[in-house]
Amino acid sequence: MDIQVEYAVIGGSGTLSSDFPLGANDSGVLLIDDDLQFATPYGLSPIFRLFSVDDKKVLTCKMHGWRSGVSRADASRQIFWVFREAGVKRIISEGGVGTANHLLDPRDFVIPDDYLDFSVRKDVELDGRYLLVMRDSLCGEVRSTLIENTRKQYDGRIFTRGIYANTDGRHFESPAEVAMMKGHADIIGQSICPEVYLAREIGACFAGLYFVVNYGEGLVAQWSHDDLKTIFYDDAPMISRIIIDTIRQLPVNGQCECKDLRKETLLKGIYNK
Ligand SMILES: [Zn+2]
Repeated sequence: MDIQVEYAVIGGSGTLSSDFPLGANDSGVLLIDDDLQFATPYGLSPIFRLFSVDDKKVLTCKMHGWRSGVSRADASRQIFWVFREAGVKRIISEGGVGTANHLLDPRDFVIPDDYLDFSVRKDVELDGRYLLVMRDSLCGEVRSTLIENTRKQYDGRIFTRGIYANTDGRHFESPAEVAMMKGHADIIGQSICPEVYLAREIGACFAGLYFVVNYGEGLVAQWSHDDLKTIFYDDAPMISRIIIDTIRQLPVNGQCECKDLRKETLLKGIYNK
């Protein structure tokens, strides 16, 4: 691949309506290339945009690469294959989430430090060469930079840790499912897995910024689709600005342990050639 890029943003519902990164109106952001698509072993990739923040190059795609006719597992594999080939080292994701913790309200930010995977996409990998240690799976350095920059942009509540429960979707969760997750997770969404595994597999740092857009069913109050829509459109430029400032501040090579938490598998001959 002729593109070498060290930063990537997997866009979600928080930035979709703001033509990320252009909606942030940041004079240090320059669009380099649009409509980039790559042939991968898992099919043609989603469309990527290449831009720069000052002197740093960033690849980004919309809505986690999800699109009709392509499974979410394949969309994720296509994205991470491209990131690996491009040499991406630090990945930021974002998205809207529901609540499992009854203390949370819409428009709270959560920067989670752990996750629970209730999806059935456990077998999503690139080549299975590594044993992936999922301790500190959300990079502490990327998280603290996200937290710092969210505080600069936002006066509301920011939770600096939390557990993200990943479900399969596309539907939301039933009241019984939310009740089961309450006490075990704080927020519920559909996009931290398999991204978190695939980031570790390519040796990159990964962390995400999640904005609460609705109460989990059966918790606190019924949520309204109008509120969800308002958040979707009104808050996207702010989320874009937080991510751009985070990239600006984040060095390419961290002091974190992320890249050491993948080990060569011992199951040689099965997963290694
Ligand atoms: Zn890291």
